[in-house]
Amino acid sequence: MERKVRVRFAPSPTGPLHIGGVRTALYNYLFARQMGGSMILRIEDTDQGRFVPGAEEYIIESLAWLGIQFDEGVHVGGPYAPYRQSDRKPLYRQYADQLIKDGWAYYAFDTPESLEEIRKQHEAEKKAFQYDVTSRNGLQNSLTLSKEGVNQLLEENHPYVIRFKMPEDEDIVINDLIRGRVVVHSKLLDDKVLFKSDGMPTYHLANIVDDHLMEISHVIRGEEWLPSAPLHVMLYKAFGWEATMPEFAHLPLLLKPDGNGKLSKRDGDRLGFPVFPTQWQDPKTGEISSGYRESGYFPEAVINILAFLGWNPGTTQEMFSMDELIQAFSLERISKSGAKFDLEKAKWFNQQYLRQLSGDVLANLFMPVLSEKGIKVEIAKLAIICDLVKERLSFVKELWDQTSFFFLTPEMYDEQVIKKRWKEDTSSHLLKIVQILDTVQVFETITAHDKVVAYIQDNGLNMGQIMNCLRLVIVGAGTGPDLFTIISIIGKDESIKRITKGINEINL
Ligand code: GLU
Repeated sequence: MERKVRVRFAPSPTGPLHIGGVRTALYNYLFARQMGGSMILRIEDTDQGRFVPGAEEYIIESLAWLGIQFDEGVHVGGPYAPYRQSDRKPLYRQYADQLIKDGWAYYAFDTPESLEEIRKQHEAEKKAFQYDVTSRNGLQNSLTLSKEGVNQLLEENHPYVIRFKMPEDEDIVINDLIRGRVVVHSKLLDDKVLFKSDGMPTYHLANIVDDHLMEISHVIRGEEWLPSAPLHVMLYKAFGWEATMPEFAHLPLLLKPDGNGKLSKRDGDRLGFPVFPTQWQDPKTGEISSGYRESGYFPEAVINILAFLGWNPGTTQEMFSMDELIQAFSLERISKSGAKFDLEKAKWFNQQYLRQLSGDVLANLFMPVLSEKGIKVEIAKLAIICDLVKERLSFVKELWDQTSFFFLTPEMYDEQVIKKRWKEDTSSHLLKIVQILDTVQVFETITAHDKVVAYIQDNGLNMGQIMNCLRLVIVGAGTGPDLFTIISIIGKDESIKRITKGINEINL
């Protein structure tokens, strides 16, 4: 029988969610939806020392903003609740005990200080130390101490951890859906701690127990977890859960734009782009890290950007809605090599989504910005203005720079344009144009345009030169959308006022 697809996103609440983590959540979501399966949010907070207040709420809120939905999880409940590992604390111990009973794990009484001492000695001899098959026999644990000795230490409440007893000589095989067959020999691996002296399981134990109990079918996670996968495979074996072990898919790393190393939390603000979905304020230091949402990215664009960082559809189509991604996604098309973050491409995606918005929608987004500046304008007129300039923007916040001249008479004029285009007779021609515009009865773009063009042609003048100077006095610059459309929007009186003002100021 085909197994029901159940995937989980299992972040640790140690800070804001990095976009690499968001991509992991997204790929899990796309896979779950495509397969008609379930998507679960499990919070892995067994490492109390790294817990950061607000991180869980941040994760939930930012994924909701992006439209990544969960069928089960800390915030929505579900048949396998609780979904927060600290709330599941009582259930892990029995699994660690079972492994001890079956000879797959052992008590280790070594103090952190004694291990540190040994580590230092090794370092001095330029050797690496790990708690493993070669070193475990010389250390303080239930493999080396007598049964009575162990019982005594336990009775005396001597602190201990429970470690996995990695087999001496075994090829561990991971059949990764992205990387294929990966084989690691057990003698290279250390005896990882499964249960800590604080009474909490470690990530490894809790993760495997929960994936099993929650009937997870596929583990889709970042490549940084690949080194842990052999231990995880061994744990399934040790528990006798091999038959229902999930399939593994380790996603390629997200790299810095130059491809040199993993995209880190620190890179974002240093290189001028966010690495977090939404803004995050560090509860301890108060330091703010920028987010895609606050930087003006649309959630649809962020989804599209992340979908393409590590996956491609195998066609030339680049714009994908969430539903289209659900259709097109496949684990087979995820690349093995790291994906470089490309800021220009990210902006391009945002620009494409912005262009799809109607002038009305943009006007509604823009109106509060204008109100704040004390500018009053009818929404219908604003919609026309937004439509006119939207091809020139990547972000809504750029609207003001592209449109301010519709609302404010220019105070300054581009020096370059003046130098290049403003001639001795320019003023007199522009004054003629004022007269012409004044004669246009119903102020209309085409009529105004045709009359001005006729004047330039009839007098054998240079079209580019006059038009550029006219634009200069109307807009203050040499760029912008169609000049006569601008003139018709600001109206006859304002246009004439601007031309006269421009002449006076530039001729000074
Ligand atoms: N808690 C781990 C993390 O923070 C989950 C890794 C996994 O998916 O197994 O990424």
